[in-house]
This record gives sequence, C-alpha cells and structure tokens, in this order.
Amino acid sequence: QKELLKVNNLKQHFPIKGGILGRTVNHVKAVDDVTFDIYEGETLSVVGESGCGKSTTGRAILRLDEPTDGSIEFDGVDLLSLSKRDMRKKRKDLQVIFQDPYASLNPRQTVGKILMEAMAIQNAVPKGKRRERAIELLETVGLNADQIDRYPHEFSGGQRQRIGIARALSVDPKLIICDEAVSALDVSVQAQVLNLLKKLQREFNLTFLFIAHDLGVVRHISDRIIVMYLGKIVEIADKKSLFDNPQHPYTKALLSSIPTPDPEVKKERIILKGDVPSPINPPQGCRFHTRCPFATDICKQEVPALRNLDNMKEGHRAACHHIEKIAAEQ
Ligand code: SF4
Ligand code: MG
Repeated sequence: QKELLKVNNLKQHFPIKGGILGRTVNHVKAVDDVTFDIYEGETLSVVGESGCGKSTTGRAILRLDEPTDGSIEFDGVDLLSLSKRDMRKKRKDLQVIFQDPYASLNPRQTVGKILMEAMAIQNAVPKGKRRERAIELLETVGLNADQIDRYPHEFSGGQRQRIGIARALSVDPKLIICDEAVSALDVSVQAQVLNLLKKLQREFNLTFLFIAHDLGVVRHISDRIIVMYLGKIVEIADKKSLFDNPQHPYTKALLSSIPTPDPEVKKERIILKGDVPSPINPPQGCRFHTRCPFATDICKQEVPALRNLDNMKEGHRAACHHIEKIAAEQ
C-alpha cells in the first residue's frame, strides 16, 4: 500500500502571551510529537476528547495553522516547504469538510454559485462546463439538479453537509479531512452521510482523515484508528484490533462508554477519575498518569513509546509502560 500522507514528529505549540509586555509566557502543547502515515484509499480516523489535538493535527496538515515543528509529506511533496501560494494550489488535492457546513457556505450565494466558485478558485473545471458539473455533483451527493439555484438556508443540516461534500469533491481531491463532519447531525442522518462518504470513497478513490470525538461514529467508516490523549497518540490499530483487542487503558475506557450493538452483551463501564489536565503544563511522563488506574512511578517520569507486542497484530501499537502487566491481569 502506498502512503499518501506522512506526518512525522508533528508539534503544534501555541504561545500564550502575558504580562504588560505581552511576552510569550507559556505554550499550549496542543500536538506534541505525533507521527503517522495515511495509506491511499483508506479511512484513518483520529479520535479523542475535545482538546486532545485531533483537529489541530488536521489544521496543521492543511497549514491553516503553521506547525511548530515536524514534517508533513503529501504525495511525495514536503508541504511545509511550499510557499503560501503553492500551498493554496495544493489545496486542490487536500480538501476539508467541517462540522458546521453552514458556517462555511456563503448565505448569499446559491448552491450552484458556491460549487462553481470552488471550481473557479482551483481552475478545476473549464468555465463553460462548471454549471453542468455542479449539477452532476449535486446528484452525486444525493441532492437534486433542480436545487441548484437554492440558498443554503433552504436545506436541512444533513443536506447542507452534502453540499459541503459536493464542494470538496468539485476540485477532484485525493485526500479529504473530515473534521467532526457528522457530529452535529441526528443519528439517522449521520448514518446516511457516513454511507455516502463510503460510497464516494470507492467511486473516486478518495482517502479520508476522519476526525471525531466518538468511537461509535468512526466504527463503521474507519479502516484504521488513532486514539489521541492530550496531544499524543496513545494507540493506533486497524479497526478490528482496536475494538477487539484494545491495549491502552485510555482506549479501554473510551470503548467502555459506547453502547454495544448487542444489548445482551453487558460490559462494564470504566469511569476515569478527574478531568483531562490542561495542555499548558501537561503531566510529565505518560500524560495519562493522573487518571490511570495502573500508574506507577515510571509513568510519572518517562514518556512511553508506541510499542507492538506479540499479542498484538502487525501495525497495532500502544504507548504504555505496563501493557504486558495489564494484559496479563485481565
Ligand atoms: Fe497508565 Fe502508566 Fe500505561 Fe500511562 S504508561 S497508560 S500511566 S500504566
Ligand atoms: Mg475539534
């Protein structure tokens, strides 16, 4: 499998200014040394609670915020070395769908205009063909050709998300970053939009980076899943391994909180103590140690590396000093 995107040692530390001189007094370590690859044609999900750095990672890849450190290689190109202008051109290949499409759809433009403008910006479709292409796109995402002259407010939330998807597709991208793309929708509409994304992925050979806070939502769409906690990857695995054989105590807690499809299967909900600490001065060592029922002294001192053990499938890695011990106890 070919890697489409390689993220290496990504750091995103936002300065906090303070005092009367407005000096940088501290940093929010939103993303701290994150490394992963995305293979062409797959859906890689990034999950975690708000503030774990998942959206920040997505924004860094798009260079909506300039990363503090690390490298991002997309389709053989070092994105961070591109000029602003070349990066804008690159955005033809890297599109994004946000949680609230309404916020990014101009209320004074018809859907047709919105789609045609996206094509024009990237010069993706010859001028005379844009309206025809816009109609085609509406049908591709399950809307009707005769809705082309309507305005965003005339559509439901789910339909607006379809417009957002059509706009992303209009420039024929390779990678689409979906940042909480279905989080604001009702459960039944969520399922429809997820099914649509899956269908489009097959049809257009799309690769998805799917950012969500809810493991239940990513369950159907993902090929592989990354779990993040306070700016770090704590576990990465293919979907089946993550659900059937989770290793990190945080992943186990997250999984215990989603309803099982089979109500006969009772599982114990793991309630974590305390809240997620601040990313300004995150805990030393393993960032999860303040909430982890298995924490020992080493956890407070040493940052655990992502590791693969014998009981884990290839490609499955977890960052915990005590995986062996925890697995043996259970
Ligand atoms: Fe818990 Fe220690 Fe493992 Fe961190 S390294 S998850 S604190 S046992
Ligand atoms: Mg977010």
